Amino acid sequence: MRIEAERIRMLNEAPIRPDGRYVLYLMQQSCRSRFNHALELAVEEANHLNLPVLACFGLLDGSNGFPEANARHYAFLLDGLADVSRRLAERGIGFVLRKASPAEVAIDLSRQATMLVLDRGYLAIQKRWYAEIGTAAALRIVQVEGDVVVPVESASGKHEHAARTLRPRIARWLDDFLHPLSEGRVRHRFDGPAPKGIDIGDPAAALAAMTLDRSVAPVRRFRGGEVEAQHRLQTYLAQEFHGYGTNRGRPEAAAVSHMSPYLHFGQISPVEIVLAAREAATGSTDDKRAFLEEVVVRRELSMNHVHYIEHYDSYEQAVPAWARKTLAEHAGDPRGHRYDDDALVAGRTHDHYWNVAMAEMRETGYMHNHLRMYWGKKILEWSATPEEGFARTLRLNNRYFLDGRDPNSFTNVAWIYGLHDRPWARRPIFGTVRYQSENSLRKIDAKAYEAAVRRLCEAERAGPSP
Ligand SMILES: Cc1cc2nc3c(=O)[nH]c(=O)nc-3n(C[C@H](O)[C@H](O)[C@H](O)COP(=O)(O)OP(=O)(O)OC[C@H]3O[C@@H](n4cnc5c(N)ncnc54)[C@H](O)[C@@H]3O)c2cc1C
Repeated sequence: MRIEAERIRMLNEAPIRPDGRYVLYLMQQSCRSRFNHALELAVEEANHLNLPVLACFGLLDGSNGFPEANARHYAFLLDGLADVSRRLAERGIGFVLRKASPAEVAIDLSRQATMLVLDRGYLAIQKRWYAEIGTAAALRIVQVEGDVVVPVESASGKHEHAARTLRPRIARWLDDFLHPLSEGRVRHRFDGPAPKGIDIGDPAAALAAMTLDRSVAPVRRFRGGEVEAQHRLQTYLAQEFHGYGTNRGRPEAAAVSHMSPYLHFGQISPVEIVLAAREAATGSTDDKRAFLEEVVVRRELSMNHVHYIEHYDSYEQAVPAWARKTLAEHAGDPRGHRYDDDALVAGRTHDHYWNVAMAEMRETGYMHNHLRMYWGKKILEWSATPEEGFARTLRLNNRYFLDGRDPNSFTNVAWIYGLHDRPWARRPIFGTVRYQSENSLRKIDAKAYEAAVRRLCEAERAGPSP
């Protein structure tokens, strides 16, 4: 299957450089060797030019570290890069990993390249890299969208109001972008000496050699990499997927996919996930419809938000005006409980089940969606001002969740404050922003959830660290 034209953008009009040694692919968003549209385009171009492909990755280290990333995130990323390096070698594609910004690595290696292929993410830092590369690299640059089902600008040319406004737009395009992607045969293997880089054969050693924030430890619950992502997807679809439609709101039911860390790090393609879910023998029509709503509509609503709102991490820009107004009107309402960051992180609040959910997040890097909503709404309730609540929810979200620092992180934290939502009945502190009471936990088997979290936390503490 050819790559859909809407996924491909020329970032400049520079010609192909005839004396280049390879086609260069900067792997940044799509950290995988399979079902990777940008990589397959690079292979296709290289075959056409009788050249090999060289893929590269820029690892941000030390004072240049990726904003808010810590050992938990880097361990997952490096496990994934070890998979990539192994699989690319099998395919005959070169791979260079360097401690530098992605833009620096691409600009340096592009000096010997014929053309440069980029994948595509929507965070501000990623857009800055693309702009930097576009200014400094004097060769043809092509960008390929592979980490959403419907390319963001094809789905909509503006910031969408809510899921209900994006849903019909996505539906219109969906079948045009749900195609399998075959792996092209590499005609010219990258055999020459590879440009200098660091060895990722032992990801634990690579992690130990980095200068980074180690105050948040790697987790055992999720091992990074495309191999693990595939294994989890297949196991999930063969078993727990059945019942997703009815059970996805129950954290104790083990009904969800846990794909979010793998999607965040680009270790699996959302197109591949949707195609596999559609084919799954286990899921009912309702399970499939509900899953598609989350992986495509909700996830791509987040991409739409960060793409069209420049300062998506700021309260003033991310939270809609009606919600800021009502929250400001209630900013002086007395708070029954107030907690600082330390008390929240340690799970020392008066709310037992909130503390349990916080333990899951802190110790294992994940929390079920239903509890994330409850968790975030309570932080709003327990903070001195909505601005303070917004900033600390984002800070904790991005620090402890493996899937943090994602378009989904910024969008869902803003959802707590009214984004993509509508006014509800007026309440103290919340004004007309949707409130979530302790009663919402009655819908779940909280005791079973607590027992599951206890087991998960014990497993994290057993034996030497991962
Ligand atoms: C306060 C708050 C913070 C959140 N922070 C993050 C975050 O940092 N990173 C993150 O990826 N998600 C975040 N979410 C969204 C959602 O909770 C997670 O994506 C989901 O719980 C991941 O688990 P799963 O992969 O098992 O989901 P599944 O139910 O199996 O869904 C499959 C995929 O669909 C997407 N999805 C599911 N629910 C949502 C949703 N509500 N919005 C957008 N996409 C969704 C995810 O990509 C997910 O992996 C947050 C939600 C809230 C309310």
